[in-house]
Amino acid sequence: MPLKPEERDGLLKIRQLKKTYWALFVSIPLLLIAAQVLVQVTGQWAWIASILVPFVWGVTVQQKLIRYRCPRCGEPFFYPAPVPSHATSIPSQKRCQHCGLSEDQLQF
Ligand SMILES: [Zn+2]
Repeated sequence: MPLKPEERDGLLKIRQLKKTYWALFVSIPLLLIAAQVLVQVTGQWAWIASILVPFVWGVTVQQKLIRYRCPRCGEPFFYPAPVPSHATSIPSQKRCQHCGLSEDQLQF
């Protein structure tokens, strides 16, 4: 069954949020290491604060994903209810838990 335009747009938005989530997930530990090096070199503990922005951004993206509604059925895409403790499995999930709408249906 071909995707409706709103389903395609919704899946593209989910894919974009997941890419951002992963980019931040990978970059935050690297930024933390860089901040630690800068603290040692400069003696300025304020460098640790430099990871706050990407960290808050990452948490925000994670919360958006947890609450994201399926563009087809309107139910939560990832879980039956927002459960932040399960958020780490978000990047691997490609299919709506309710109706089965899948990112794999996106064709470019
Ligand atoms: Zn659905």
